[in-house]
Amino acid sequence: MSVPDSLDCDTCERTVSAEAAIRRETMGDLDPTKWQTFCCPHCGNRLKTVFVADE
Ligand SMILES: [Zn+2]
Repeated sequence: MSVPDSLDCDTCERTVSAEAAIRRETMGDLDPTKWQTFCCPHCGNRLKTVFVADE
């Protein structure tokens, strides 16, 4: 599993490219060097938590 090319926001019904998405640290106990939460740049909705360790 790695970073997808694009993510769909259910809230504002846009497709957000992975580059445009806002990356945040995950909530909880996940290692922030391995996992990042991608958020919609338009509405701030959390889109997906992605495993990024192989980037
Ligand atoms: Zn959105």
